[in-house]
Amino acid sequence: MSTFGGRIPQLPGLMIDRFEDDPDIRAYFLSHDHSDHQYGIDDPDLQSYIIKDSLKIYASPLTVRMLRNRRKFEELHDAFHPLPLDVPHKIVIGSSESAYPVTVTLTSAEHIVGSVMFVFERETPKFRCLYTGDFRLSKQDLKLKRCFKLHRGLKPFDAIYFDSTWCTPKNLWNIPTREEVLRYVEPLVNTHLQEDESNYICVYTMYDVGYENLLLDLARIADSAVHVTEERASLYKGFPGMTDILTTEPRNCRIHFCQKGYPSWKKSCSQVRRDYNSGRVMRLVFSYKKFIEEHKENPEQNPYVQNKKDKYLYHVCWSTHPSLAEVSDLVNYLSPDSLHANVIKGCSEKDILTTLQRGSINSKKWHVRDASEGLACGEKHKPKDGSNGNSSQSTDDSASESLIDKLRRKGCIEKRSASPSPSLDKLEATKLRRLE
Ligand SMILES: [Zn+2]
Ligand SMILES: [Zn+2]
Ligand SMILES: [Zn+2]
Repeated sequence: MSTFGGRIPQLPGLMIDRFEDDPDIRAYFLSHDHSDHQYGIDDPDLQSYIIKDSLKIYASPLTVRMLRNRRKFEELHDAFHPLPLDVPHKIVIGSSESAYPVTVTLTSAEHIVGSVMFVFERETPKFRCLYTGDFRLSKQDLKLKRCFKLHRGLKPFDAIYFDSTWCTPKNLWNIPTREEVLRYVEPLVNTHLQEDESNYICVYTMYDVGYENLLLDLARIADSAVHVTEERASLYKGFPGMTDILTTEPRNCRIHFCQKGYPSWKKSCSQVRRDYNSGRVMRLVFSYKKFIEEHKENPEQNPYVQNKKDKYLYHVCWSTHPSLAEVSDLVNYLSPDSLHANVIKGCSEKDILTTLQRGSINSKKWHVRDASEGLACGEKHKPKDGSNGNSSQSTDDSASESLIDKLRRKGCIEKRSASPSPSLDKLEATKLRRLE
């Protein structure tokens, strides 16, 4: 859940993933179609401000298509401005003497369909930063990004604003990739569907969008269309691949994605309501957070956990956000001058940066300033004692480690390398790119 305030001090006049009708703001950038990145966009005053001044909301072409499919954004139809990915776009911010050009490059964040990161580059004064929005990228994915590279070597980054959703000691250092999880879920789904031809699967998630590849895979495994609500179906109007597998007709569907939130028969479609407790419906909750909660109660050695009281309910370890290892890979790869956490909840930014610091393999360590020193951001410096800063591990970490070890033993996640920053080296060509 993003807590980013929308502004980067070195880039005045533009706002990212937040919407305020401030006369100083002359351009908006939206990383993806999730509501926690659209704070303020529903405000009628903001909408008339944008329309009156012909301001633009820049986003990826797929995000723009999805936003234009939403009835609540009808008024903003012409304000949404698609920018193609992986090419630099020069945009002038403002129109008075204070106007300045900024170059922005959008690149896929692999969080949900259409999600992007932004690289902002300014000539005078010189400033370059990466705003990740929400992302899930491996080290290999990062190495393929041309927007991070100069002719020789990497671009120097002044700042990174990053997705810190799982950057606390309470979370797993390494989280199985979505492709690895699917390899475990496939036999589970197959067995249930083959047991009886009237059995089916219900999928529960926290958001409407962001599960496109999952639905494509489940439709393939079940050889069936996916039942969705009218609202969900309309979001994917014009999306290649998605419109073929989604239907608003529940009959004969072996996969149902027709309700939001936690499983409940009350909120389901008529078919699910009828069969809810019959054993015909296997319920799969795709959520990293719910998986972790359930795992504490009932540790199993799979990236899914069967509920003790309800044997047809499973919690699947599904994360569209980066693990600590993946964030650490990003930071070590780009080695920016300052680091800023975009999701601060339940702990301080200092806790987040300290947690990352413990796993860093880079000789440049991340010093966390006290809040009294100004902005709570990380700043790289060499450690005085020459240590790698990995000596202290919290008890929370060791609890997480045991789960990782279990998953690793089962071959669910790759073996940890000798480096203190375990990361998944294998390139996973996700199908989200196919949708791009
Ligand atoms: Zn978010
Ligand atoms: Zn998101
Ligand atoms: Zn349904």
